[in-house]
Amino acid sequence: MTDLVMELQALLGPQGVLTGDDVRSRASTYWNPEPMQAAAILRPRSVAEVSACLRSCHERGMSVVPLGGNTGLVEGTACGPDGVMLSLERMAAIDSVDELGRTMTVEAGAILQTVQERAVSHQLMFPVDLGARGSCTIGGMIATNAGGFGVMRHGMMRERVLGVEVVLADGTVVTALNGYLKNNTGYDLKQLFIGSEGTLGVVTRAVLRLEELQSAETTALVACQSFAQVTGLLKHLDRSLSGSLNAFEVMWGDFFALNTGALSKLESPFAAPYPFYALVECQANQADALRQHFEVALEQALEAGLLDDAVVAQSAAERAALWAIRETSEPEERCFTTTLGFDVSLPIRDMDAYVRQLQARLAEVSGDAVLLVFGHLADGNLHLTVGLHDRVARDRIERVVYDCLQHYRGAVSAEHGIGLEKKAYLPVSREPAELALMRQLKALLDPDNILNPGKILG
Ligand SMILES: Cc1cc2nc3c(=O)[nH]c(=O)nc-3n(C[C@H](O)[C@H](O)[C@H](O)COP(=O)(O)OP(=O)(O)OC[C@H]3O[C@@H](n4cnc5c(N)ncnc54)[C@H](O)[C@@H]3O)c2cc1C
Repeated sequence: MTDLVMELQALLGPQGVLTGDDVRSRASTYWNPEPMQAAAILRPRSVAEVSACLRSCHERGMSVVPLGGNTGLVEGTACGPDGVMLSLERMAAIDSVDELGRTMTVEAGAILQTVQERAVSHQLMFPVDLGARGSCTIGGMIATNAGGFGVMRHGMMRERVLGVEVVLADGTVVTALNGYLKNNTGYDLKQLFIGSEGTLGVVTRAVLRLEELQSAETTALVACQSFAQVTGLLKHLDRSLSGSLNAFEVMWGDFFALNTGALSKLESPFAAPYPFYALVECQANQADALRQHFEVALEQALEAGLLDDAVVAQSAAERAALWAIRETSEPEERCFTTTLGFDVSLPIRDMDAYVRQLQARLAEVSGDAVLLVFGHLADGNLHLTVGLHDRVARDRIERVVYDCLQHYRGAVSAEHGIGLEKKAYLPVSREPAELALMRQLKALLDPDNILNPGKILG
């Protein structure tokens, strides 16, 4: 190890390799303040340096864990004291913006918020958005195929990446920086790396697909008595709003009540509680026309019995207050000793039945388990939090969540990935032949298993 560190220090310079306290002073993950564990953190400044790092590690069979903003939620950056982390933090430049082609070429360490702001300065937008925007990197988002808000309209990273530059485990650089929407010249290699969680290659650069800036948005919080109303409302708004519906975030009553109750600084705008709430938002360019169109669509929904009450945000501050109800996690942190988070996909039509079945099964496992549900309903994606006041073993809760999901042929990860955390449950969502093909791909691209070993497949 000392030889490798010295070799890489000579290559990357004194600031290019961190060891000892410089590693331990960093937090393990965004949520876990325990000291980071790794023999060293490599901080290359160019694709050539990434390639040289991987070549050296490959020759010695050294494990390499790619590191972006470390905001991932499935232990995908867990390293251990005998491996090295390869951070893209010194490769965060925005290379170029093509206004006509609506693309941006960036280094993989570029922070999402920087990319979004740069796009706006060109009257364009990069529409993938998520709560970790100030810390997460484009490389990490590609590696996890991140989603977030607006997926129903703009897609996940897979739909927003046109090309990538990747370094393979042995240091080979694959430059596939396609910049067109259409390119059917053989296999679309970038797709292999999107969502591969750093197990097949290190993403060093990407061409992102932008859109014309939509400068106006209008937001409402809607209350419903039944899940049938919620799904009817989604179809009605999507049909009526001519493609401008951008978000349809649903909150089950218990989640909403906690986030607007005594443990929260936020308040419900409604006088009475409801079993379901939806935060709906559309974006376009003509602010007045958009608002009028939106309000008409909501009135029609009220007349058709698709909602019981609604408030439309009248200012940016009111919009922020509505979104805060969806985004805050403080009340659950105050309320429970332990919280377990899940990110699942299943058919929209089965969601209500799944949640009811899960509630009943959880009650059998732990009398005081509380199930809080919210999610990107239009994407078929629910986020579940199981709040506990005692320490029921995590794997018993996981088994119940995924057993119920298997019945609906759901996915154990919708947008966060597999990492270490969900590895044991991958067979719930994937056939044996799919898993075998994944293993073959891994063996082909990383035969010595040095890239993020143990993640996804083990
Ligand atoms: C507050 C918060 C909100 C979030 N909301 C969402 C959400 O709405 N939707 C969603 O999809 N996700 C969400 N996430 C999780 C999401 O996965 C990450 O925020 C983001 O995609 C990870 O980017 P990162 O740069 O932090 O990657 P990291 O956490 O550093 O890494 C994630 C994985 O990618 C690998 N990796 C990192 N960089 C590279 C690279 N250059 N090449 C190859 N592999 C690499 C790592 O080894 C690891 O396996 C949220 C996280 C937080 C903390």
